[in-house]
Amino acid sequence: MTGTPLTLYNSLTRTLEPFAPIDPHVVRIYTCGPTVYNYQHIGNMRAFLFADTLGRVIRWKGWPTKHVINITDVGHLTSDADAGDDKMEKAAAAQAKSIWDIAAHYTAAFKDDVARLNIEPPAEWTVATDHINEMIAFAQKIERDCYLIDGGLYFDTSKVPHYGALARATTDQGESRIDPVSSKRNAADFAIWRRSPPGEQRQMEWDSPWGKGAPGWHLECSVMSLKHLGHPFDIHTGGIDHREIHHPNEIAQNQAFCSCEDTGARIWMHNNFLVDRGGKMSKSTGEFLRLQTLVDAGFHPLAYRLMCLQAHYRSELEFTWDNLAAALTRLKRLVIALDALRGRDDGTLKGDAELYLARLEEAVADDLNTPRALTVLDELIADKKLSPTVRIGAIADFDAVLGLRLAELTRAEMRLRPGSATIDEGTIDVRIAERKQARIDKDFAASDAIRDSLAAAGVEVMDGDALGWDWKLGAS
Ligand code: AMP
Ligand code: ZN
Repeated sequence: MTGTPLTLYNSLTRTLEPFAPIDPHVVRIYTCGPTVYNYQHIGNMRAFLFADTLGRVIRWKGWPTKHVINITDVGHLTSDADAGDDKMEKAAAAQAKSIWDIAAHYTAAFKDDVARLNIEPPAEWTVATDHINEMIAFAQKIERDCYLIDGGLYFDTSKVPHYGALARATTDQGESRIDPVSSKRNAADFAIWRRSPPGEQRQMEWDSPWGKGAPGWHLECSVMSLKHLGHPFDIHTGGIDHREIHHPNEIAQNQAFCSCEDTGARIWMHNNFLVDRGGKMSKSTGEFLRLQTLVDAGFHPLAYRLMCLQAHYRSELEFTWDNLAAALTRLKRLVIALDALRGRDDGTLKGDAELYLARLEEAVADDLNTPRALTVLDELIADKKLSPTVRIGAIADFDAVLGLRLAELTRAEMRLRPGSATIDEGTIDVRIAERKQARIDKDFAASDAIRDSLAAAGVEVMDGDALGWDWKLGAS
């Protein structure tokens, strides 16, 4: 697809930049993946939805992509300041399980959520612990910019010319930015290799030239992006928290490795946070919402995808149940409208949807403006000057970018059973049919009794629902 050139916001320059692939045959994208010591919360999933939308837009523009997402199963400490415990070790101790079991469990749960949100799986899932040898080799190559202290091998951030440029921080600001680990040369210096404390045996530790231990968290992304994509690749993504520490440190490692000023990626992109009333949603604070929590409350996972698409990825997005309910209603309307179009489809090609496709392109080319693309989609669906066939064809183009599975999503699928529901859909449908008959027979006592018994089972009968739904499951 030609037309409006794609512009993307580059966190490095803090400006919108025209996008031109390094190699038009394959656009290479790296996304910092989950640390698998716990379930991903819906805020984390926003980061992957954003990266997915980016990939979809690039492919829709006609460039194939190679997307890599890593799985962090070692090295991420409870504090970004290289202090505290390894998140994985801590979770394993708390649940009395091996780290490997913990990692396998949460990785599988994450991949389930990826599928349920219709996120295209990456070309490769790369796992940190599969790359220990490469990490050691990389660390040896940048060792001249590092120094050894009791805690392990540390990177000297004063050795790279513009350390922290991505965060718009200087090494001086770093003094207050990052808690010092005693004997670090500069506060912003970070661990490349963390030595196991003497006399302490860790579940995950490897021999290295700097003693038994484990890699620092930032190392894996430099190593895996280099190995699986090559430097420089096109786009590196992550949540906006990564713009402050993790990505500046990755860049410093990459620059030390190539002895050049190349950051490793042309464009660095960051999604803003999903927040709730308590602030940024975070795994480490314990209580958080998972995709499964939403499903258990009766929401289709794609309602959450639509909720995210309704906001620009660089804006903070507040999660409320009302917002989610509104997104579910919008999704239902889309599904109903498409059903209706299919019902009237007689194969005639009347009218031309080019204008809508051009507006879709304009919207997504403007730094992935999905809220605008959704508005254009609403207009397209309602445009009676176009025959159903023409509209259905153009909607498929919109959905290639939006990923809402509009072509196959059914009304029945929209009705999810909360985890707490004690009644199955077949029984509900029978009871609803009996109630309808009772009303036809003007036996209101019987119809009320059926409504009340359904309510007791957590099912709300929806008389006169504007969208034509008979019932819904309440989050009882
Ligand atoms: P983690 O598993 O903690 O490494 O995080 C996985 C991804 O989620 C990273 O890209 C984070 O930057 C991102 N992230 C974490 N919290 C949020 C949030 N509340 N909203 C959006 N993205 C987030
Ligand atoms: Zn990373």
